[in-house]
Amino acid sequence: MIVYCANCCEPVEKRAIDVTRAAKIGARLFCSLACVAMQRRVGKTKAQKVAEKRLYDMAYREKNMAMLKAKKRAYFERTYDPRKAAVERKARMHLHVAYCRQPRYKAWKRQYDMKLRASEYGPFADAYLLAIKLNREIKSKATNYEIRSENQTLNKKQARTRQGFAAYSRDRNSSAQGKHA
Ligand SMILES: [Zn+2]
Repeated sequence: MIVYCANCCEPVEKRAIDVTRAAKIGARLFCSLACVAMQRRVGKTKAQKVAEKRLYDMAYREKNMAMLKAKKRAYFERTYDPRKAAVERKARMHLHVAYCRQPRYKAWKRQYDMKLRASEYGPFADAYLLAIKLNREIKSKATNYEIRSENQTLNKKQARTRQGFAAYSRDRNSSAQGKHA
């Protein structure tokens, strides 16, 4: 049977059974797959399609957050190899070190560590931080002499020499006495 393509209107040979079936369900007939594809086009530009897909994906992720998370977790647990991961971490180590050397990171880490140490004191964390600040303030005002006498490190070297000499002469005396006994 000759029918006319629903897209390009060219005549095309079709089996009677197909023509009857198409008429029954209200379907159109085409000369080729290319014409099928052509008439499915809705005339959107590539940029338009990309933008629409992006919005669709965003909505999809939001709607299926729990399912996607479970899926990712399962994939991670199925494929995670600690030894391989260690090698990959090591390969990126220089980047990590560079990151940690940034002044911005250092300042943040100092604050973070301080808070972490203070958190050991529970409800007294603020008091602990205040005590540290106070101590620093006092030290900044104190002279070197005051700090050293407070810590009992004033003339440390001299004190050690004296102690050492005392011990040395004690040993000498005791061994000398031992010889005579
Ligand atoms: Zn056609």
